[in-house]
Amino acid sequence: MITFEGLGLEERLVKATSELGFVNPTAIQEKAIPVLLSGTKDLIGLAQTGTGKTAAFSLPLLQLIDAEQKHPQALVVCPTRELCLQIVKEIEQFKKHIKGVHVVAVYGGASIGLQIRDLKRGVQIVVATPGRLIDLIERKAINLEEIEYVVLDEADEMLNMGFKEDIEFILQNTPKRESTWLFSATMPPEIRKVSKRYMTDPIEVTVGKVNT
Ligand code: ADP
Ligand code: MG
Repeated sequence: MITFEGLGLEERLVKATSELGFVNPTAIQEKAIPVLLSGTKDLIGLAQTGTGKTAAFSLPLLQLIDAEQKHPQALVVCPTRELCLQIVKEIEQFKKHIKGVHVVAVYGGASIGLQIRDLKRGVQIVVATPGRLIDLIERKAINLEEIEYVVLDEADEMLNMGFKEDIEFILQNTPKRESTWLFSATMPPEIRKVSKRYMTDPIEVTVGKVNT
């Protein structure tokens, strides 16, 4: 059986996963984590809901970002407030043995003032819904200049909800973006188009049967 250690994750992250009761990686984690840790720039991860995609991108992000640098380095974009909060909760648990890493959720329907205050506290990872993120960009309240990693989570869902232009705007406004990781349960042609336009030779990792 493959272990989290065997995927190349550092001790303090492995420790956090085992404390969460994770014994073995799921199939998408087993396939995606070594690829992401190897420095592969762009990845498309396709697997059904409930297969552990959050850990598949969160663990590599926590290993790759620089905790010493107190500016946003990674941006996770997801469709809903609930998902934002869930992702942040999971990242908080994974990072419990790492010092100096801060993560913030920004989403609509909540005080933008408080989120702007949180963003100023030296966060490295921002988890956002598209609408609120664009609002923050337009107010110049978020610094995307140093973002190296952009994760599009539930990309199919975001396109279904009409966020295509917002996503493109976000991708166009991350000048230092080196890695783009797109996760989705399905692969409709619209996602293919976005990946062709904004990703470079993405590695495709698929688990199970994926509908277009
Ligand atoms: P997805 O994003 O693919 O829908 P999630 O990342 O939300 O799936 O994970 C679904 C559930 O499985 C979560 O409760 C998560 O904590 C749990 N989980 C993820 N990876 C593992 C693992 N390797 N072992 C045990 N449980 C896991
Ligand atoms: Mg998910």
